[in-house]
Amino acid sequence: MRVLITGAAGFLGSHLCETLVQKGHHVIGLDNFITGSIDNLSHVAGREDFTFIRHDVANFIFVPGPIDYVLHFASPASPNPNSPYGYPNLPIQTMKAGALGTHNTLGVARAYNAKFLLASTSEIYGDPMEHPQKETYWGHCDPIGPRSVYDEAKRFAEALTMAYHRFHGLDTRIVRIFNTYGPRMRLDDGRAVPNFIQQALRSEELTIYGDGQQSRSFCYVDDLIDGIYRLMMSDEHNPVNIGNPSELTVLELAQKVNEIVGNSTPIKLQAASRLGDDPQRRRPDITRAMGILGWEPKISLEEGLKNTIPFFKTKLGLS
Ligand code: NAD
Ligand code: UDP
Repeated sequence: MRVLITGAAGFLGSHLCETLVQKGHHVIGLDNFITGSIDNLSHVAGREDFTFIRHDVANFIFVPGPIDYVLHFASPASPNPNSPYGYPNLPIQTMKAGALGTHNTLGVARAYNAKFLLASTSEIYGDPMEHPQKETYWGHCDPIGPRSVYDEAKRFAEALTMAYHRFHGLDTRIVRIFNTYGPRMRLDDGRAVPNFIQQALRSEELTIYGDGQQSRSFCYVDDLIDGIYRLMMSDEHNPVNIGNPSELTVLELAQKVNEIVGNSTPIKLQAASRLGDDPQRRRPDITRAMGILGWEPKISLEEGLKNTIPFFKTKLGLS
């Protein structure tokens, strides 16, 4: 297949590019580098089966055909206002990537009669009143809150994807991705795993926003990419959660990182830094993914962190 991947220079997009070329597909990566990096594409750069286009998905997209599959991953993804790469500091770009970018990429898919997969998110469930979150849950979101630029853009993107499916008969998929981590995350994107790993590697205090009792469920990138590939190849049009259901508090995550890295500096709770709209609990119900895709995660948090830490060590010049 000839596959267009937007957000190709980002964390997840770059892993997808690598996996798809390894599986024998021709990949056209597209990105404007707003939060991504060319370094993430060094594994595929120069290959005959990989082409790159520098472009903003908010503008009309022209890609020479044929195109068999479009995967729309372009969007800032970190909620941290302390990072210049967090979507609170890129609010209009985030809304445009989710709204106009989804419209333009659906347009490419329609023009070439290609299949389409949208990278959606557990954020569409907001601060959930149902736990764990099933795909049938409609969510609990503030349409004008600090996270709204991301949540509402993704909710719009899901609605538009289903409209193209129902009205135009486009062959679409929607993956709702839960917190995922691994090599090639930006050092400074402000998400919990890169922040904690680099603080631990520098023997610093790990900074926990709030009381650390908020929970998340972290999935290692290889498991996620496997789930996405299975969804691509399936006939499922309804949203599918992909994530690791093993839930822990943010404080437990910080303790785990310190233990693996060997950092004995005490953890610092930063009540005043609590992020607005920070969901209190998050865990995917993956019954649908297990039943339809035969997928479940295989890599434990400990193993995933041990695979990830060397990447950050190299980035920090510590190895
Ligand atoms: P990332 O920031 O590493 O990657 C996003 C990529 O999209 C970057 O390379 C960025 O430059 C590019 N991009 C952003 N706006 C663009 C635009 N207008 N035009 C072209 N390129 C643009 O983030 P990520 O973690 O790899 O996330 C990728 C996708 O997965 C996003 O859509 C995100 O919402 C979704 N997602 C990720 C997670 C996660 O835990 N990593 C969870 C849920 C959803
Ligand atoms: N968090 C934290 N310290 C940090 C970064 C994040 O305590 O340095 C918390 C954040 O408030 C949230 C959780 O860790 O409760 C996960 O944050 P992340 O940015 O990774 O993703 P989210 O799940 O909020 O989108």
